[in-house]
Amino acid sequence: MLHLNRNFFYHIGRIGLPLLSFLMVASIGLAQTKKINTIIIDPGHGGSDRGAVGEYEGTLGLKEKDVTLAISMKLVDILRKELPTVKIIPTRTTDIFMNVREKAEFANENHGDLFVCIHADAVELKTGSRIIGYRAEKYTTTKYSGKGKKRKKIVTSHTREVPIREYFKIPTTRKGTSTLILVARQAADKVKALEKSSDLQFDIAGNDSTLDINYDSPEYKASAMLYSQLYFKKSYQLAATVQEEIAKTGRNDLGVWQRQKGLWVLHATNMPAILIETGFLANPDDERYLASSKGQDEIAQAIANAIIKYRTQVETPKNSAGAASSQPAK
Ligand SMILES: [Zn+2]
Repeated sequence: MLHLNRNFFYHIGRIGLPLLSFLMVASIGLAQTKKINTIIIDPGHGGSDRGAVGEYEGTLGLKEKDVTLAISMKLVDILRKELPTVKIIPTRTTDIFMNVREKAEFANENHGDLFVCIHADAVELKTGSRIIGYRAEKYTTTKYSGKGKKRKKIVTSHTREVPIREYFKIPTTRKGTSTLILVARQAADKVKALEKSSDLQFDIAGNDSTLDINYDSPEYKASAMLYSQLYFKKSYQLAATVQEEIAKTGRNDLGVWQRQKGLWVLHATNMPAILIETGFLANPDDERYLASSKGQDEIAQAIANAIIKYRTQVETPKNSAGAASSQPAK
């Protein structure tokens, strides 16, 4: 999956869509030489917004807002050690609520060059049931005997055992880490046409959309346009690098997903932006992994490695010129 994802630009290049080529050239030209001086780390949710929780039977009850904060703080520590000349700024360091608009403004006011959102996945769980006992239920049957004036009604009482059921949520079997970026608006239709042949994935129904957005508003259109021209390619490059580093840990690499709507915070930040779904809180293995300091350390280190690698790529002109299509195969 990762391999195919990394070939995305190669596929588009071969098909030669003029608009996409223009966008890619424009984005390389405009953003190529920019140094990464400030990185904003955004622990998803917080305060009254707890995000996802396990919900399945036997869950640890881990809350997404706590996991995202724990991983983010570890990530901040690693990056501050490894990149001492870069400002690493978390949107929150405690359990407070900030809406996504405030988070985007915070990132822009701090002149971020990268915006990295840390989240955990939620899925709708199926309900199962089991019999935990029986209760006696009385009922009657009615029969008639005889004919005419001798006809008699005979009512008989019976007892039957009725099962008592207990209902529970079944954990999901889905586990692993994925990274979300936005679809470049102008490219979306063309990209959709490539979806079947190029393993490009679309995630339409997101659970991390917390704002009502008017997709026809000039504000949205302007930010979407800017994102397409300046940040789409770099966001993709960083996302693919994150997944590459995640795969090295042995975790399930669920690839890079492109979402068309719902990630308002990614649109509203004037910088390349990604959202990492670190794991599934409704999966017992993932929940335990995300709750453990070993798991949190491993994920934070993998994301840090990807950010460091990406920074080297974009700040070294020789490496950044070809970007995704000319990276040496591993
Ligand atoms: Zn979330």
